[in-house]
Amino acid sequence: MRIIEGKENIISGFSTYLQDESKLSFGDVKYLAFPENEGDVCEFLKFCRDKNMPVTISNGKTGVVGGAVPVSGALMSLEKFNKIFGVKKSIGEYRVRLESGVSLDQFYKFLENENFSGEKYFYPVDVTESTAKIGGTVSTNASGERSFKYGPTRNWVRSLRVVLSDGNVLSIERGKIFANGYDLEIKLPDGSIKKIKIPQYKMPSVKNAAGYYAKKNMDLIDLFIGSEGTLGVITEVELALTKKPENIMTLLAFFPQEQNAMNFFFECKQMLTSAVVFEYFDKGAFELLRPKMADLPPDKNAAIFFEIEYTDDNLGNTMLAIEELLKKNNSSMDNTWGGFEKKEIEKIRQIRHSIPETINETLARTKQKYPAIHKISADIAVPAENFLEMISYYKSKLEPMKLQNTIFGHIGENHLHMNILPRNNEEFLKAKELHLDFAAKAVLLGGTVSAEHGIGKIKHQYLEVMYGKKGLKQMAEVKKVLDPKGILNRGNIFNEEYLNA
Ligand SMILES: Cc1cc2nc3c(=O)[nH]c(=O)nc-3n(C[C@H](O)[C@H](O)[C@H](O)COP(=O)(O)OP(=O)(O)OC[C@H]3O[C@@H](n4cnc5c(N)ncnc54)[C@H](O)[C@@H]3O)c2cc1C
Repeated sequence: MRIIEGKENIISGFSTYLQDESKLSFGDVKYLAFPENEGDVCEFLKFCRDKNMPVTISNGKTGVVGGAVPVSGALMSLEKFNKIFGVKKSIGEYRVRLESGVSLDQFYKFLENENFSGEKYFYPVDVTESTAKIGGTVSTNASGERSFKYGPTRNWVRSLRVVLSDGNVLSIERGKIFANGYDLEIKLPDGSIKKIKIPQYKMPSVKNAAGYYAKKNMDLIDLFIGSEGTLGVITEVELALTKKPENIMTLLAFFPQEQNAMNFFFECKQMLTSAVVFEYFDKGAFELLRPKMADLPPDKNAAIFFEIEYTDDNLGNTMLAIEELLKKNNSSMDNTWGGFEKKEIEKIRQIRHSIPETINETLARTKQKYPAIHKISADIAVPAENFLEMISYYKSKLEPMKLQNTIFGHIGENHLHMNILPRNNEEFLKAKELHLDFAAKAVLLGGTVSAEHGIGKIKHQYLEVMYGKKGLKQMAEVKKVLDPKGILNRGNIFNEEYLNA
């Protein structure tokens, strides 16, 4: 296994490993390892354990909460874990077993070339950024556009191999090990038993990636999914596939006002039972994109991106119904970009992808002048009945402060990303305060402070708003059982105070 030693060598030749898309960085790293198999992972963990040195797991580095960013100690990149072991049929579904450093891109391409007895199957989780790696998506329980129909990564994970910090390797199959109430026992290969108390907070009934998954009688596998690398190193994953819809149509409808776009969405959601994706872009998103995209309609200030599955029989009627709704909400088919072909679909999806990308680029430029600044991006979801209240709350606070912002994303799941782009340190501090205020409001409305990105190193205080100190202590107790020396992904999910208590 290749190991780069020394802070200077890592900074000079491997600096990209010291950041993720949050642009957070610390840089005090002594070792960077590239294990090639599970044996290497165990060996490197032993090395870190013996030195009492924290080790951070790095994968695609597309995370936006600093999860893969090392604070100090060692860094372990899983990029050599890139094998796909093939497809098998099990319990009536197709499954693929793959190493955790396989990228979504690599996985999608593999599936396109597979023959499923003449049918087409696919992996429906699409986190927008397809350079993300499978292990990263499992560790953050990532979602993305299509989770409106298909749910988050958790729904598709059938088994995992996980190396614990003491070198024990767990092979966990869904449906095999359950908690008895809130007590969970794991028998380790070395014969010892780990006894875990499942935290007793109530998770919100919305899309959620904040803190450990915790439910009475829960399946052990769910504890590791979404645990942000704090409990073990995932080396292999088995994922289920689903049948690819016959036809998909992708549409991007432009509206003069944000209210028109929202109304269109609410009516469309009722009407179109075949929708797979509903995404919303506000005025702020248009302002960000205009300098890059000359062909965006000049008099439009909001858009809904949606995808629908259709058959040749229902296409005509569906289009007529959409046309009617567009008219009702001050738009038309002429103000809608549509795609049936792969190339057209890709163009429209690229626009969606450009929004977070442009935010990150803008931020990186500001950061050159103000290094302390990082992304202020709320990942809040609330129950449907409270969605409009959350949006009005954002507006009522943001508008008087004149901060550059955009609210966009997964409207289908009442989950919009509120991003503030601070232009200097003063705005950054104001934005941080606002984010905390928004987190408190979301919790009051029965929502989550992180629906898909996780907590990482920059959202601790929001998680505390959500589950209180008591909930965080219960999570930290789980970590202490599985990682007694506290070496794995230190700084993710909890502050040091919880680990040292
Ligand atoms: C432009 C853009 C768009 C995005 N859109 C979405 C979106 O729509 N939905 C969404 O959910 N996310 C989105 N993201 C965020 C990001 O892509 C996801 O969080 C993704 O799951 C991260 O995967 P990664 O391989 O890059 O992980 P990394 O950033 O490398 O790591 C993420 C976390 O997982 C841990 N980890 C990684 N691999 C392992 C492993 N094998 N074992 C244990 N722990 C591990 C890391 O330590 C870290 O804590 C977006 C990001 C960008 C830049």
